[in-house]
Amino acid sequence: MMSAAREEKITVMVRLRPLNKKEIAANEATDWECINDTTILYTNTLRQGLNIPSAYSFDRVYGGECPTRKVYQDGAKEISLSVVKGVNCSIFAYGQTSSGKTYTMTGITEFAVADIFDYISQHEERAFSVKFSAIEIYNEAIRDLLNSDGTSLRLHDDPEKGTVVENATEETLRDYNHLKDLLSVCQAQRKIGETSLNERSSRSHQIIKLTVESCARELLGKENSTTLMASVSFIDLAGSERASQAMSAGSRLKEGCHINKSLLALGTVIRKLSKGRQGGYINYRDSKLTRILQPCLAGNARTAIICTLSPARSHVELTKNTLLFACSAK
Ligand code: ADP
Ligand code: MG
Repeated sequence: MMSAAREEKITVMVRLRPLNKKEIAANEATDWECINDTTILYTNTLRQGLNIPSAYSFDRVYGGECPTRKVYQDGAKEISLSVVKGVNCSIFAYGQTSSGKTYTMTGITEFAVADIFDYISQHEERAFSVKFSAIEIYNEAIRDLLNSDGTSLRLHDDPEKGTVVENATEETLRDYNHLKDLLSVCQAQRKIGETSLNERSSRSHQIIKLTVESCARELLGKENSTTLMASVSFIDLAGSERASQAMSAGSRLKEGCHINKSLLALGTVIRKLSKGRQGGYINYRDSKLTRILQPCLAGNARTAIICTLSPARSHVELTKNTLLFACSAK
């Protein structure tokens, strides 16, 4: 399926987390500082030999003290709420393991759902339905996070809808508390497996999708009624170290390669999208992740990427790689 060029740029943001207790106990220093709303500086002049540019600018940068509510309000609210107007959209978290992807995405998903239900309650002239689904891509296999039977889901190319995940459970979302319950179910599902949660989440991508449908009440059931439908996806990506690290030999190699595949494919797609029409043909078919996400990346879809950074000096190389990815998405 050919896709149209994007109509607007991807919003690219950076979020620096605070040093955690362990890092503070280990006397870790930090060399990163957000000097205003849009610029982050590398402040360690003694280590310029590392070949790290000293300033990076994005649509927004958020420092260690910035609460998730503000990240959401400034960076994700407007985009995620466009779903109620029938516009597909997606919010990504990209960064190394432990940089704050899950922390950021969980908060943003909760704030967005609260606002979507707020909007619905203020627009009684329309009848809305909100459906929730959650999948994980692990080792290029797709798993339903709302169903514990462990089978992998298949992708199907639908001539009208594009690529769809077959048989993914969809729950009709009743309210904000229902979302909290479903998120707990997903989190419990993610814990199942041989590896620890951290191991698993560093290798897997989680996609939470809300599909919002609405129709004018006065036209309900009538012939001339039209339904607005769109989806918003909240994507907690595998650790970005999986895209840059050469994996060691043995059983981990395959897993590492597969995660590289989806993350690398996404990186390529995003770099091309950021170049607009000059980017040339965009191949979404290289990985499960890009196939699934095509509808919320292409055409008139709205996209924001939040790149999460660890402030610790010992993570400086991965932090630099994340910033370079962020620059390539602008
Ligand atoms: P990731 O999903 O990227 O591996 P997590 O979201 O699990 O990272 O974050 C790692 C740890 O740091 C967690 O304990 C989380 O609560 C904490 N953390 C992450 N970002 C922040 C932040 N902005 N403020 C405070 N704590 C944070
Ligand atoms: Mg995580």
